[in-house]
Amino acid sequence: MWKRFKGYFSNDIGIDLGTANTLVYVRDRGIVINEPSVVALKKDSKTVLAVGIEAKQMLGRTPGSITAIRPMKAGVISDFDVAEQMIRYFIKKAQKSKLRKPRVIIAVPGDITGVEQRAVKESAINAGARDVYLIEEPMAAAIGVGMPVAEPRGNMIVDIGGGTTDVALISLAGIVYAQSVRVGGDAMDEVIAQYMRRMYNLMIGERSAEEIKIQIGSAYPLVEERKMEVRGRDNVNGLPRTLEITSKEIREALQEPVSQIVDAVRNCLEKSPAELAADLIDRGIVLAGGGSMLTGLDTLISEQTGLLVTRADSPLEAVAEGTGMVLNELDVLHNHGMN
Ligand code: ADP
Ligand code: MG
Repeated sequence: MWKRFKGYFSNDIGIDLGTANTLVYVRDRGIVINEPSVVALKKDSKTVLAVGIEAKQMLGRTPGSITAIRPMKAGVISDFDVAEQMIRYFIKKAQKSKLRKPRVIIAVPGDITGVEQRAVKESAINAGARDVYLIEEPMAAAIGVGMPVAEPRGNMIVDIGGGTTDVALISLAGIVYAQSVRVGGDAMDEVIAQYMRRMYNLMIGERSAEEIKIQIGSAYPLVEERKMEVRGRDNVNGLPRTLEITSKEIREALQEPVSQIVDAVRNCLEKSPAELAADLIDRGIVLAGGGSMLTGLDTLISEQTGLLVTRADSPLEAVAEGTGMVLNELDVLHNHGMN
């Protein structure tokens, strides 16, 4: 009774501070915010003009006086001030009741430095948080997809985000081995744009490259190969031009980042203690993060590791869901004096 009563007034928040997208989970309400991790600034004064969806629409389309920044882009915080403004915006937006300061759990990349950790915590405190807890993203993702992380058995999660791919082996609620590589969905977009320039002298923006990846990108041969019309600017005469490309070409273009992701998984398997690696024969590997939605990536990783590979049901939401599940344990943690 007391617990429900308390829950009713709690507005505790879980945040997935991703390189591409930020999701906010509010206790008892679920995911209430899902927006790009982008901030649009006035160049000279650094005044924030827009955050999230609105700011993303400005990416690549800004006049000289405005810049759109992704402060978490490479899996590290490139600009602390801008990151703080973004965190503040999302916390404010998620808060319905201002009666009580929220406790906040933030999922951060496993390899962020102590300085970055303090900066994230301070930003959340400045934005009105009562207490701030950090959780490693792969742990949050594993919890979010429902892996039995507390058991004394090996669980492997691969979170393919925009800027990074995090591979982690988890057992007994701890990360046994983790590796973060600076390859993810952004790198896929970049190689597609490079390919279009190199092969066709066609300049395309990062958003068009992402669209190509989502529509016809793949990591494994398709039963039926596909085609798509692409628009861009001709690099020779500077005029807008349209051309048709095939899924086979895009797969070739994607080969390098895709094989780097596969290598990261294989490397983690090699570094895993034998007992835990053996557990994976039964339990397989789970993929999360938006990058895992690349068609055929699960099949390729399965082929290259000999293990069963499954993609999370909602790969983009796994980390946020995980922070939400941890929020429900906060009272328990708190009573044991942890923070
Ligand atoms: P982060 O956690 O770093 O914010 P996300 O997990 O939100 O990243 O994933 C973002 C990445 O997922 C982007 O690079 C985006 O292009 C990619 N993505 C989203 N949907 C798809 C899809 N259907 N196919 C391939 N990539 C996708
Ligand atoms: Mg993520």
